[in-house]
Amino acid sequence: MALPDAISRLARFPLAHLPTPLVELRNLSRSLGGPRVMMKRDDMTGLAMGGNKTRKLEFLIADALAQGADTVVTAGAAQSNHCRQTAAAAAVAGLKCELVLGGEEPRSPEGTVLLDALFGARFHWTPAERRGERLEEIAQQAASGGARPYVIPYGGSNPVGACGYVLAMTELIGQLKQNRSGIDAIVIPSSSGGTQAGIVVGAEAGGFHGDIIGIRIDKGEPGAVPYESELAQLASGTAKRLGMTASFRQEDFVVEGGYLGRGYGVVGDLEREAIRLVARTEGILLDPVYTGRAMGALIDMIRRGKFSRDSTVLFWHTGGTPAIFAYAREIL
Ligand SMILES: *Cc1c(COP(=O)(O)O)cnc(C)c1O
Repeated sequence: MALPDAISRLARFPLAHLPTPLVELRNLSRSLGGPRVMMKRDDMTGLAMGGNKTRKLEFLIADALAQGADTVVTAGAAQSNHCRQTAAAAAVAGLKCELVLGGEEPRSPEGTVLLDALFGARFHWTPAERRGERLEEIAQQAASGGARPYVIPYGGSNPVGACGYVLAMTELIGQLKQNRSGIDAIVIPSSSGGTQAGIVVGAEAGGFHGDIIGIRIDKGEPGAVPYESELAQLASGTAKRLGMTASFRQEDFVVEGGYLGRGYGVVGDLEREAIRLVARTEGILLDPVYTGRAMGALIDMIRRGKFSRDSTVLFWHTGGTPAIFAYAREIL
């Protein structure tokens, strides 16, 4: 069965405005004296100010509904884009939403926490964790109160959610064909892995042979398996769900881990310069945590001559811009 058929057979709850635009960043490219730079605007998926999690949630919310859930439970950092989009998706689908947020409860909601509250989510603050360590416990509590909870993992990154990025890659390949343009490399921020794993599966299925470079955003848990092997496992599970025979190995993933700065969510010169340069050349907003860092990495790689001047690099904008309002001091 061809991939588009396999995907179209999976239950999908429509949330995103698709296809997202594919644009060329001529001014940025000129100011860097670098390769042609294109951007896939998944900051414009539309739901709740956009972002990459909406594509995953189309499959996750459909699965929750199919299982008869009445509540979704998920987790993230305080300014989590995943939690913001999940809260909005739950509202659209008529589901309750419980968010397990890392950090101390803020005195007044700012940035995305304000939006989560507007969408009617309930908060559980966990000062020491942001990767959903307490998800099962909170889901149990909801169940014992009579709810039918559906747990969405941290970042929506499981084989159900990653299908959203297999479909996204199919969408991009279609746009490139239509424009008669080719790209040599794709650069994406990579954190919980569903985005990069889905893109790699979609590339395999659609015959895309360019480089796919994930920019690592956070170090991950101490003692965890290598990130590339997590990605391989996720990609293999996703391919299986789509009836593909492909299986993936660590070596199938390129992850650049040299841009972690002072840690997750900490804005340094790299992020600040990238956010300002893209705003001032293209009028496009990046976010402080993910796309600011990944674009900083791309700019650095261009300056180091990693891409030849006649090549084309695509930056996948994964969203996150509403968090900018919680980072005013660090960015300006
Ligand atoms: C979650 C997120 C990412 C990372 O995607 P993963 O699938 O978790 O690797 C990148 N950018 C933004 C803005 C995000 O919210």
